[in-house]
Amino acid sequence: MLQDEFEWIKSITPNTSHQKELVMGIGDDAALWSVNNELDQVICVDTMVEGVHFIRDTLSPHQLGYKALAVNLSDLGAMGAIPQFYLVSIAISKDWNAVELNEIYKGMTELAARYKTDLIGGDTVSIKGPLVLTVTVIGKVEKGKRLLRSNAKPGDSVFLTGVTGESAAGLKLLLENTRHHSYSKNEKELILQHQMPAPHIEQGRLLASCSHRISLNDVSDGLASELNEIAESSQVSIHIEENKIPVSSRLASYPRNKQLDFQLYGGEDYVLTGTVAQDQFGSLREQFEQHSLKIFEIGKVGEAGKAAVYLHRDENESPEKITKQGFNHFRER
Ligand code: ADP
Ligand code: MG
Repeated sequence: MLQDEFEWIKSITPNTSHQKELVMGIGDDAALWSVNNELDQVICVDTMVEGVHFIRDTLSPHQLGYKALAVNLSDLGAMGAIPQFYLVSIAISKDWNAVELNEIYKGMTELAARYKTDLIGGDTVSIKGPLVLTVTVIGKVEKGKRLLRSNAKPGDSVFLTGVTGESAAGLKLLLENTRHHSYSKNEKELILQHQMPAPHIEQGRLLASCSHRISLNDVSDGLASELNEIAESSQVSIHIEENKIPVSSRLASYPRNKQLDFQLYGGEDYVLTGTVAQDQFGSLREQFEQHSLKIFEIGKVGEAGKAAVYLHRDENESPEKITKQGFNHFRER
């Protein structure tokens, strides 16, 4: 059993490449290679496993298909890319019937139509175990516009393109009562954020087209974890302020500490977090407003040298170091 996924990935990362076109391999939300003087191709893959990322009580087959594609599109969004194609590998046991499998594909097709993304291949295999759904997405981004995790510099503003915590609160409700329970309107909205997250493709494109130096990551494993990845890739410290992190009105009934736990460690929010030079944040916010999109400034990049993320809760309290402690909700049950 692997103790640390991140350390293991580092250990298997090649230190040379055979292909001169490679721009970015392992280490960011997606890999990039150069196709011509104007464009880089962008590619990434993500897997959803029954019993780990979903159970039948948390996602309908339609939602499973939708979400498997959405989480991949989110990684393209974090590179500022335009989605183009996707491939699907599915390992199926006898427990899944043809109607359910078709529903998975209808869920994917619904989202693919919204982003004009074509299904171009995949693989179908049988398994004596959980359903395993692997989606690969391919996109493109203008050369030099890529938004790497390693672009953060001291003094930058730290931003977030949406609220965090709703998906985790929705998942908690689903694990307690299943998706067949009758929920209030507010609870239904939280649950939907977990089941059918909207990838921030438009926000990623806006960030890629603004010509500022931007570091970026999508929030899949929790805000604390993603900011730590930016801090590590850029070798900087990051300081965020509790009272600047936007709180969803849908979380209003939760105690403050529970809200904060969802906001920092919940995960699966699929909003974008990153940094931009402090004097450029204002113009970025204006551009987001012109497109009716949200962007929040939640802190600052500190010094170069030592990677760490700090939460400032109160002016009188010393900051708390926050680490990558997103956990697997299903395994904890
Ligand atoms: P994300 O959360 O954005 O999907 P991950 O944390 O899963 O990214 O992965 C970090 C990096 O490691 C990515 O560049 C990914 O492609 C790479 N990676 C993850 N697992 C493997 C693996 N088994 N083999 C090779 N590369 C991997
Ligand atoms: Mg990612």
